[in-house]
Amino acid sequence: MDYYSGYINKLIEQLSRLPGIGAKTAQRLAFHIMSMPAEQAKQLASSITEAKEHVQYCKCCQTLTDSELCPICRDAKRNQKQIMVVEHPQDLAAYEKTGRYEGVYHVLHGAISPMLGIGPDDIRLKELMQRLQGDVDEVIIATNSSLEGETTAMYISKLIKPTGIRVTRIASGVPVGGDLENIDEVTLLRALEGRTEL
Ligand code: ZN
Repeated sequence: MDYYSGYINKLIEQLSRLPGIGAKTAQRLAFHIMSMPAEQAKQLASSITEAKEHVQYCKCCQTLTDSELCPICRDAKRNQKQIMVVEHPQDLAAYEKTGRYEGVYHVLHGAISPMLGIGPDDIRLKELMQRLQGDVDEVIIATNSSLEGETTAMYISKLIKPTGIRVTRIASGVPVGGDLENIDEVTLLRALEGRTEL
């Protein structure tokens, strides 16, 4: 496949490794990047490098942040005893946009999926269990309502139950298979308010 320069082929190959980017889209993006002003292309490249260099996992909730502790974990006004467990930082962002949740979060960075070979040790569950040794009143499980999300919710609730900490699951106002990040704020709030005991 040497119609293009080796450099472009390499760029297409890198882009096509991104999720949701097929060969055709990768090609289109590569040619788009080639048509960009040099300065803009440089900025794109350096944003990737800088983000990789500076962004880290929050020591407490595991979300991606620029400092040791994320702004939510640092915020003394947030209820540190109420922890909402989500799959991805985007889900945290979705709930933050509602502006109504006053607790803190825990980001798993994935969900348990026996089919994909993703087990409990592959997500940030150990870190959650460590947090629960502190003073925690409630864990709200807000994983997606996909098969993986439900499997993860059941697994976590079984782990937490013996500790006596209250475990709840957001209501199924969230459509089945729906990713939290794509759901409107009213539905998210309703799901939170209608949460049930596990
Ligand atoms: Zn945090």
